[in-house]
Amino acid sequence: MPDTLPELLSALVSIDSVNPSLVPGAAGEAALAHWVAGWLRERGIEAVLDEAAPGRLSVIATVRGSGGGRSLLLCAHLDTVGTDHMPDALEPRIQDGRLYGRGAYDMKGGLAACLLALQGAQGAGLRGDVILAAVADEEYASLGVQSVLGRITADAAIVTEPTSLELCVAHKGFTWHEITTFGRAAHGSRPDLGTDAIAHMGRVLGQLEAYGHDLGSRAPHPLLGHASVHASLIQGGQELSSYPECCTLQVERRTLPGETAGEIEREWTALLSPLASDPAFRAEHRTTLVREPFGVPVDAPIVQTLRGQATLILNQTPTLTGMSFWMDSAFLAAAGISTVVFGPHGAGAHSAEEWVDLESVGQCRAVLAATLRAFCA
Ligand SMILES: [Zn+2]
Repeated sequence: MPDTLPELLSALVSIDSVNPSLVPGAAGEAALAHWVAGWLRERGIEAVLDEAAPGRLSVIATVRGSGGGRSLLLCAHLDTVGTDHMPDALEPRIQDGRLYGRGAYDMKGGLAACLLALQGAQGAGLRGDVILAAVADEEYASLGVQSVLGRITADAAIVTEPTSLELCVAHKGFTWHEITTFGRAAHGSRPDLGTDAIAHMGRVLGQLEAYGHDLGSRAPHPLLGHASVHASLIQGGQELSSYPECCTLQVERRTLPGETAGEIEREWTALLSPLASDPAFRAEHRTTLVREPFGVPVDAPIVQTLRGQATLILNQTPTLTGMSFWMDSAFLAAAGISTVVFGPHGAGAHSAEEWVDLESVGQCRAVLAATLRAFCA
């Protein structure tokens, strides 16, 4: 089994781990999880598999400290998005310092950096444990990290999603909502009997647009800008010649650190209640999913340690940054683990051409190795 970074990353990319919840019938994480566990065990590192759902495997590996030190969790996801329109997705190719292939950037590069850093923790004489969670299903429902957090904890965590070697200390969360307006079905020639649920949804959409403007006018988060809301899917009506009985709208609200699901519920109530002054208007709202935003204080020990070690290794202080998209880091933070996101450089997440910069993966590995030595000493 490979020891050098390019060989290790090539092996990881060549193993199909497309998320089967995104792409029905896809391979899933099992083969890659077994391979990663085997790679670790071959190096004498304790590794166990965690099955969040049938066939949906994560790997938990631990290099135990001698006791009394702080523990650090490295976290990377095993799954990738699909490989449509990407003929050589699983045939990694190295050119001009870049490794091309599905998952190279999101995020097998970060996973390779974690594996090599964990290997480096062996024999380093650390007092604290270093733990790796290589998790399933980040690209869909985060089953892997949620299941793994039932078995492990740590004093701090580093998620190695790609950040171009910047230090990500915040990302947005999101909530999903379903609004249904209820009309009354009737023959299209009988306005005296019918109530148009789709037209009533038009009133909701008008309110939604005003809600979006309101969010854009609030004080911005220093790293993430503004919260936002948008309509995503709409469905309504029975047939062309009838008044529609109901209309359903699905909405996504992107949230900032500090915004709670309870506050957002109250915003929806305030948005819909003026419409209810019309007795013919009837609507229901429900929140269908909450994914918390993420933010870690800049003076948290893990932020300070990683920033200090990265400054030494990269010869410059990494920029503190925020990411617009959601990551597993929010689950780690919600479990009480002080978390940062730091990973390599590249491009093409979820695109037809995906690559990671190999030098930056090596730098990421070096920063992780130095950080765990400093943090778990
Ligand atoms: Zn990712």
